[in-house]
Amino acid sequence: MLPSPFEFDRPSTIEDAIRGVGESGDGMFYSGGTELLLAMKMRVIHTDRLIDIKGIFGLNRICLNEANDIEIGARCTHAKIASDPVIREHVPALSSLCANVANIRVRSVGTIGGNLCFGEPHADPPTLLAALNARLVLIGRDGTRVVPADDFIRSELETIREPDELLTLIVFPCPNGPVTYRRFKHGERPSVNVAMAWSIDAGKATIKGARVRVGALGSRPQPLKVVEDALRGLPVREVRSAIEAVLTTALDELEVNEDRHGGADYKRHLAGVLLLRNVEEAISVGGGA
Ligand SMILES: Cc1cc2nc3c(=O)[nH]c(=O)nc-3n(C[C@H](O)[C@H](O)[C@H](O)COP(=O)(O)OP(=O)(O)OC[C@H]3O[C@@H](n4cnc5c(N)ncnc54)[C@H](O)[C@@H]3O)c2cc1C
Repeated sequence: MLPSPFEFDRPSTIEDAIRGVGESGDGMFYSGGTELLLAMKMRVIHTDRLIDIKGIFGLNRICLNEANDIEIGARCTHAKIASDPVIREHVPALSSLCANVANIRVRSVGTIGGNLCFGEPHADPPTLLAALNARLVLIGRDGTRVVPADDFIRSELETIREPDELLTLIVFPCPNGPVTYRRFKHGERPSVNVAMAWSIDAGKATIKGARVRVGALGSRPQPLKVVEDALRGLPVREVRSAIEAVLTTALDELEVNEDRHGGADYKRHLAGVLLLRNVEEAISVGGGA
């Protein structure tokens, strides 16, 4: 099926792109189009105007800034992130995640910003970005706001972004401990995924803090608070036993949607397995055994 007719704008500035959405929010930003065009062709989404953001300068860069934060422009494709030297050096788990998203055609044009803004629950980047404590920079008619990745996805296919707000940048502190990511999938998209980021006190071989997120189970990535609390201040050599002690309680607290990816017990089990694999990797890559 073809999409219903629409106009096509190619602004070169953020201001013009925001203006293009219109007062009533009729226009939609168009980045790689890998989600949007499919939905328009199926007539699930209708818009009068597409605003192509490819020509806007500055949305396609990756750097380590002076505050030791990593910045990723929202227009960066999965392929670019996968091969970027800054990401490969400081967050190899993100590089590997992006190298394995979808297929080569989607990775070549699909962007990290489009992935986040679509709000698909069965996605890879939102889980890892939440574990990395990322902030998202949104610019709209009313100015700029910075929101934690944890708060960005509200529900299935729904984010807190207003129609005129352009996601411009994803920013997170350069990790100072192991960052790991594991997923399990039956089809194209993840059925369950788990991401973990530790900050390490290298001198004492203890975990200063840990962020653990489980994705694709419910409508948005969820923190494993019980596990995070158990890990805080813990010597790395005690991690395995500490997690095993709280695992069942932690998994019981997760919201799980039963769908074609599986039932609740099965998905919780997978989340537990993936968590323990993350832990083994974290210990081996940098946590000290
Ligand atoms: C076959 C296939 C397999 C896939 N497999 C996976 C997978 O394994 N894991 C995974 O995580 N994902 C997967 N995806 C999803 C893929 O990652 C996304 O399609 C892609 O990242 C979306 O980016 P895009 O630039 O194409 O977004 P678009 O389709 O252009 O836009 C998507 C939505 O975001 C909005 N938008 C885009 N950019 C911005 C912005 N900067 N600011 C505000 N709004 C914006 C658009 O208006 C639209 O609503 C798959 C997709 C396909 C088609």
